[in-house]
Amino acid sequence: MTKYVYSFGGGSADGNADQKNLLGGKGANLAEMASLGIPVPAGFTLTTEVCTWYYDHERSYPEELQREVQTALAAVEQTMGARFGDAVDPLLVSVRSGARSSMPGMMETVLNVGLCSTTIPGLVQKTGNERFVYDAYRRLIMMYSDVVMEKAAGVEPAEGQGIRQQLDRMLDEVKKAKGYQSDAELTAPELKDLAARFRTRVREVLGQEFPDDPLEQLWGGIGAVFASWNGKRAISYRRIEGIPDDWGTAVNVQAMVFGNMGDTSATGVAFTRNPATGDSQFYGEWLVNAQGEDVVAGIRTPNPLNDATSNDQNRHLPSLEKAMPDTYRTLHDIRDKLEAHFHDMQDIEFTIQEGRLWMLQTRTGKRTGTAALNMAMDMLAEKLIDERTTVLRVKPEQLDELLHPIVSPAAEQTAKPIAKGLPAGPGGASGQIVFSASDAVAWTKQGKRVLLVREETNPEDVEGMRAAVGILTGRGGMTSHAALVARGWGKCCIVGAGMLEIDAHKKTVSVSGQTYREGDALTLNGTRGLVYAGALAMVDSTENPRFQDFMRLADALRRLKVRTNADTPEDAAKARAFGAEGIGLFRTEHMFYGKGSEEPLFLLRKMIMSGTVEERRHALTELFPFVKKDMKATMAAMEGLPVTIRLLDPPLHEFVPNRPDEREKLAKALGITAEQLNRRAEELHENNPMMGHRGVRLGITFPEISEMQFRAILEAAGELSREGQKTFPEIMVPVVDLKSELDDQLVIAKRVHHEVCEKLGVAEIPHLYGTMIEIPRASLTAAEIAKTAEFFSFGTNDLTQMTFGFSRDDIGGFMPDYLDKGILKVDPFQVIDRDSVGELVRIGIERGRSTRAGLKVGICGEHGGEPSSVEFCHQVGMDYVSCSPFRVPIARLAAAHAAIQHG
Ligand code: ADP
Ligand code: MG
Ligand code: MG
Repeated sequence: MTKYVYSFGGGSADGNADQKNLLGGKGANLAEMASLGIPVPAGFTLTTEVCTWYYDHERSYPEELQREVQTALAAVEQTMGARFGDAVDPLLVSVRSGARSSMPGMMETVLNVGLCSTTIPGLVQKTGNERFVYDAYRRLIMMYSDVVMEKAAGVEPAEGQGIRQQLDRMLDEVKKAKGYQSDAELTAPELKDLAARFRTRVREVLGQEFPDDPLEQLWGGIGAVFASWNGKRAISYRRIEGIPDDWGTAVNVQAMVFGNMGDTSATGVAFTRNPATGDSQFYGEWLVNAQGEDVVAGIRTPNPLNDATSNDQNRHLPSLEKAMPDTYRTLHDIRDKLEAHFHDMQDIEFTIQEGRLWMLQTRTGKRTGTAALNMAMDMLAEKLIDERTTVLRVKPEQLDELLHPIVSPAAEQTAKPIAKGLPAGPGGASGQIVFSASDAVAWTKQGKRVLLVREETNPEDVEGMRAAVGILTGRGGMTSHAALVARGWGKCCIVGAGMLEIDAHKKTVSVSGQTYREGDALTLNGTRGLVYAGALAMVDSTENPRFQDFMRLADALRRLKVRTNADTPEDAAKARAFGAEGIGLFRTEHMFYGKGSEEPLFLLRKMIMSGTVEERRHALTELFPFVKKDMKATMAAMEGLPVTIRLLDPPLHEFVPNRPDEREKLAKALGITAEQLNRRAEELHENNPMMGHRGVRLGITFPEISEMQFRAILEAAGELSREGQKTFPEIMVPVVDLKSELDDQLVIAKRVHHEVCEKLGVAEIPHLYGTMIEIPRASLTAAEIAKTAEFFSFGTNDLTQMTFGFSRDDIGGFMPDYLDKGILKVDPFQVIDRDSVGELVRIGIERGRSTRAGLKVGICGEHGGEPSSVEFCHQVGMDYVSCSPFRVPIARLAAAHAAIQHG
């Protein structure tokens, strides 16, 4: 029989931390903490299987659930010494969501469930604190009506007219009328009156009575959590984070403890180490006389946890260390215990009820890339984790952030900040300001770089936050929603810049008499929390020694080599600085684009438009020195590391000029009329150039083009070695279908090799002759092809195009729909599709090595720098991956992760 409900509390638990799939992250860790003897209010978890069942059975529950919940609730009552719904000694509970991996603020929680007309007097009697009881009650009405009666019921209110917002405004009106600064000043009669008016408003707006029955509230809360799994913002968060829709959420029902019972009560959030920098300091925020979400919601500026980590925003407020030293010490001990147990930085929630400390959550804390690196290296030094774990602690994508730009220190020295906030997400960003998430998305689509400026962010804003290059908020602390989400993504972010007057309606932000409007440029230094007017210069973050040490650990563990795709000596040098161990793809045609390409391009065009072999040979002879020089410079920069040079790949007509003046000039050089030239250009036209006269096919019809390239490569290499430099070119023939194509070209290559050796007076110029595998036929016939090819490089861009039948250049028209509708989970041009393209790669390697045992195999193209594809390349036994220079460190780390995880 399936067990649907797991209990925890009173020093023991049914479940444990390893059961995250079943109990969700929150439930599993609550169970673990309970077993560790850490004070956790008793409770129970409805498993993710209930959620799955619920969605498979038209939103209903398994039959046994009711009884299991009853039994578990009775156990909680026993442990906590109070009874749910009891008129004399009532127990209140929270109903909390908890998915497998945390989705901050995405799903719903309802606190104080069980308060109603029968239990309220009992609780007042028991606590002697009427103010507290009505504060709890008005919170219950606010959360419950929002989460259960509106959101879960699918009610879609007009902008700004959500029930929660309406009740918030009523609360604000009372505060304003009384001249109160904070919620804590509201008196018992005021809260009581407010609660009554809240209930009336709920009835008017939602057409339903606020439930006055504790069990009805409990089941309403449970149903709402399950329903929230398929709420709009949860779905869009899952899309961004790549969390599968079918995982489901668990529901935790837990005895309430109260941080709002007076001045010896409090609630807080903390990280066992600093999540922005990685510093090994207990770091957090707390509020006296407050409940749960108050800290996270960013309604008041929270107090610092201790003096060592206070900042400009909260230094004037008493720290927990000072205000409640004993409790702080207990909390600090729990911090140490949790780190020693979980061997990782924890993000924790706690509540202090009349001096007594309770833990409400612990989970692995989200952190910036910088913090991930620093913490991992610290924990290694502390012998808390081993080298493999250290390497696994930094996600390959997080390195991106370490290599990302920061505001130029020089520019910052002369600029004066216009505002200061909390450094919630590191690095620098400058961009045009916008004031809503939807504008951030729309402007980004138009190719603009935007900063999202908000009073505070909430979960509805995630897509805009994702789109923006930086986030700036006026309110909230280091654990506010904006800070958590930005940190998770490694995005530059400043929160709590309280001096800013942000007007989202007028789309302006003002500070010290200056007003900035939508579209104006600002610059953020997310590492220090500084805001500047205008767009300051950015620089690459300098190489730090910690990063180097970390990468050495990773390199020692990986098996795959990492090369780069580079076409110029500059790119090659940059890639080597990032640790590239060779060039996996040098595109010959590169020299015909961009800076300095005018002359070689003209000669290439002359060659293309030649009418006879003689003319073509003549043009090729003129072109030769350019090609050779370019190859020589790049090979020299690699100092003996292998360089894979691909023969000319694109269809020739791509190089035909369109501008009349250029055509004229070309005609003149060729001694033909403009008309004749136009006719030749016309002849080159193809209906489907991607599958047309390109790659090896050019060499078959124009052998002299291949010949010139072979000579350039081999002479460049030969000359370099004569000059005392080591070189190792790998000549790569593209778009190959057949062994016979390769054989045809090999005859030319051999002849040229012989001639070059004679000319330079050497016996041999070391090189390899191989091919790109980018057509399904080539993969399938790899055994044959490998008889000639000495290496394979999988060109998975074209291979994906040919396998899916998706034109690389035209996917913009439909790929977004495929992804939105979930028809494809990811874009196969970004992440290798293991079922098809991956299968062709696997087959190609297997068959290729069946005829040539030591066949060298690599990948070039976008996938070579994408972590999950790199993992795949490791698993199928490639020798190397190749990617753009900036992704080299990411690929190195991904390769190490693959080796650790798959051996
Ligand atoms: P989230 O996933 O959004 O963090 P939680 O379920 O953790 O949601 O709850 C939101 C807030 O309510 C947190 O601050 C949490 O500590 C507090 N909370 C939840 N359950 C209880 C409880 N039983 N007693 C006191 N506070 C609670
Ligand atoms: Mg929540
Ligand atoms: Mg929480």
